Amino acid sequence: MAQKSVAGPEIERLIQLLAKLPGLGPRSARRAALHLIKKKDQLLVPLAEAMGVAVSEIGICSTCGTVDTSDPCTICADTKRDQSVLVVVEDVADLWALERAGAVNARYHVLGGTLSPLDGVGPDDLNLATLIDRCANEPLDEIILAINATVEGQTTAHYIMDQLSHLEVNVTRLAHGVPVGGELDYLDEGTLTQALKARTQF
Ligand code: ZN
Repeated sequence: MAQKSVAGPEIERLIQLLAKLPGLGPRSARRAALHLIKKKDQLLVPLAEAMGVAVSEIGICSTCGTVDTSDPCTICADTKRDQSVLVVVEDVADLWALERAGAVNARYHVLGGTLSPLDGVGPDDLNLATLIDRCANEPLDEIILAINATVEGQTTAHYIMDQLSHLEVNVTRLAHGVPVGGELDYLDEGTLTQALKARTQF
């Protein structure tokens, strides 16, 4: 027997979309939808407006690959950052984690994932060509590979190392305070800052 609907298709659609968010299952999506509907003026309307702005304004920085409303992004355009250091991360979430920790005052490069031959992710699927380009053309002294300590992360780090071996740039990586298999985004800020301070030569 088909399940009876308790609300019109518009509300069902809202619930279905919310259920796709990380950390929200169908139950919490229902609760969230109901909360939004009850708080229409304080929450639902401003959220819808913020999402409208996000849809029309947010893009990918053509220099570093992060998300922002300007291109170059706020970080790339910030001349107060150390221009000689580039921190390579897998994902925007890792960039945000490092910035939250205040661990480094440098610029970033977001790969958009890791190499994973089993899943069919090769070098061309990542933001790697622009990284090699930046390393060759920008006056960099150090590249910090702040990449997760997973098998894919380390494979990616070795690939980058290989691609940069002809350049006279210092490549370092996070200290192994980062647990094996660990993901940066889940580390507390102190651990993250320590791992960065105690980084080692690759
Ligand atoms: Zn940028």
